[in-house]
Amino acid sequence: MTITFLRAPRRAAVAAAAITVAVLGGAGVGWAAAVTTAQPAIQTITPRSEKDVTNLDVLRQQLRNYYGDALGSGQFAADSNYAKEASHVAADGTRYLSHYRSHGHATKAIVLDVDDTSLATWNYEVFSNWAYNPTTNADYVNGQKFPAVPGMVAMAQAAEREGYAIFFLTGRPTSQEQATLGNLTADGVGVDDGFPKPTTLSDGEDGLFTKPDVTAYPDYLKAACADDPGGKCTTIHYKSATRAHIESLGYDIVANFGDQYSDLKGGHADKTFKLPNPNYYLP
Ligand SMILES: [Mg+2]
Repeated sequence: MTITFLRAPRRAAVAAAAITVAVLGGAGVGWAAAVTTAQPAIQTITPRSEKDVTNLDVLRQQLRNYYGDALGSGQFAADSNYAKEASHVAADGTRYLSHYRSHGHATKAIVLDVDDTSLATWNYEVFSNWAYNPTTNADYVNGQKFPAVPGMVAMAQAAEREGYAIFFLTGRPTSQEQATLGNLTADGVGVDDGFPKPTTLSDGEDGLFTKPDVTAYPDYLKAACADDPGGKCTTIHYKSATRAHIESLGYDIVANFGDQYSDLKGGHADKTFKLPNPNYYLP
């Protein structure tokens, strides 16, 4: 039991590396060449000593402490340092949006990422021991099990009252759109967080953007991601191209909220707000 617990993240890391190699191999690169040219998804330092890094089990405990969940129940505390930090970002956003003055004719709008920007997935991190698995994650998504990130519902409600269009932009697949909408707003299933309903765009599109299968890409994603491996958008290309599409329909994205730098890079927003998330990294 203990051995399984300790080894799970290691298996996940090896799987991620193998996927990178397989993608390159599929692009017609020879296997040996692919192995030598494959790069890890995360570029970071090489520690000179174990003293340069935090022991992984100790780090997990530090994260539990940060979320005010020292015993790992899966429920974060309202008075945790995590909740305070997230609330602080939400309050900064509220203040900024309330002072913003439109210029030009575009409708002012905000864009919100979903996981760990609008919905807090701490319960799933604890359940999975920080080893993402699409099958078990889908149980949490489809069961609509996620509470809101502290401060973010009030921020979005205030923005809506001030006339902002509210758009959500997530890497979750289209198949999870209804469950995502239900968890964010209110549908009587699982947790209902009470976010404003996504604004319907000027062309009739719904304002919750989920990531389509590559075969169903709209033209703006096909064009933006033609040079990505297999034509599949990287997160930065998917999100920045979607924001550009929103702008093309007559909106000024005044603020873009995300927990990953890949949510925030690529422009097409006047200002970005970074929510705290020490649990995973999505390049
Ligand atoms: Mg996220």
